Amino acid sequence: MSKINENFLNLQDSYLFSTIAKKVAEYSKNNPDKEIIKLGIGDVTKPIVPACLEAMHKAVDEIGTQEGFKGYGPEQGYEFLRNAIVENDYKARGVDIEPDEVFVSDGAKCDCGNIVDIFAQDNKVAITDPVYPVYLDTNVMSGRSGKYNEQTGTYENIVYLPVTAENDFKPALPKEKVDMIYLCFPNNPTGTVLTKEDLKVWVDYAKENDSIILYDAAYEAFIEEENIPHSIFEVEGAKDVAIEFKSYSKTAGFTGTRCAYVVIPKTVKGYTKSGEAIELNKLWNRRTCTKFNGVSYIVQRAAEATYTPEGKKQIKENIGYYKENAKIIKKGLEEAGFTVYGAVNSPYIWLKVPEGMTSWEFFDKLLEEVNIVGTPGSGFGPHGEGYFRLTAFGTKENTLKAIERIKNWNINNG
Ligand code: PLP
Repeated sequence: MSKINENFLNLQDSYLFSTIAKKVAEYSKNNPDKEIIKLGIGDVTKPIVPACLEAMHKAVDEIGTQEGFKGYGPEQGYEFLRNAIVENDYKARGVDIEPDEVFVSDGAKCDCGNIVDIFAQDNKVAITDPVYPVYLDTNVMSGRSGKYNEQTGTYENIVYLPVTAENDFKPALPKEKVDMIYLCFPNNPTGTVLTKEDLKVWVDYAKENDSIILYDAAYEAFIEEENIPHSIFEVEGAKDVAIEFKSYSKTAGFTGTRCAYVVIPKTVKGYTKSGEAIELNKLWNRRTCTKFNGVSYIVQRAAEATYTPEGKKQIKENIGYYKENAKIIKKGLEEAGFTVYGAVNSPYIWLKVPEGMTSWEFFDKLLEEVNIVGTPGSGFGPHGEGYFRLTAFGTKENTLKAIERIKNWNINNG
């Protein structure tokens, strides 16, 4: 008899996006004349930039020749890309990272999910609330949580760090000792950021408690303010306690093309039961070589092209387009009387729903009365209740139209 991993039975079904899709489909069926604007998606919409396309075309031609053919590549990524990452994303920011501390992958989602493989089951995990669900669910799957509590909407054994307007979306240090801490900044879903000083508090905590920070910087390219670190390794001491995840998905429109990387400095150590310090880089390398055969050569060449002068310029234009949308949404919502967070260093706009309404009630009202789709904050965790996420990934035309509708909306009368 084959036994299953019963931890999977502990998972809660994720109804968020399927419920949204169902509600939108039903509304659309009953109101075929209404034009619905979707500002709920977390996917990019602008095409891959010419510099990356040219690099891909070139790579395609190359592998069609005897001399240029590529079979299995290095599991950790080609040297050309690891070097480009080190030079552009780290050395250029004054951070010393070696190419063999970088592991190229097919996505930050997989990396954030797979990293749990190298940690013991009895580690105590802390996540922010609300949160990108992957961190939580992958720890539930691997047995680090207790049972789900229907009343509170939380799991036993997981330490939840609320991020709300009350604490300026800056998680407070946990009261109990934790071993693995997931931080994501710029944050999905709140769109908020931490300064270097804010992050230093976490680095110091991790050093004192021998914890590891799992830092998801998937939205780093959207940062525009000074003193907001683009990498946790800009913070002194982080190279001893942090693992960083980055992705070309939101940076360069690679959500469908798939390329990302994880950085594990050789100075980051975990411990055996007997207290022996072990380099996490070595464990991850071993795991990668066993379970992964690398990202395709063509895609890695495309990722490399994001660092050429033309690539950088073209990508900046695309990010600028989304950021302009974010500004339009933020300004428009504020003019309409909403309290709005995020948007400045992020493609996400996190708004407070009007007093007395739940996130889902606001969702329904927004869909039915002004035909706009967003994401209810409660779908990202209990402390997301009372908030709502809009994204800047739509077209400018639709974004402007949506904001006009919201400004002309008499929310109290429908
Ligand atoms: N991390 C965060 C916080 C995200 O929001 C997303 C995607 O929405 C990802 C990671 C996934 O990135 P990738 O496309 O590289 O798997």
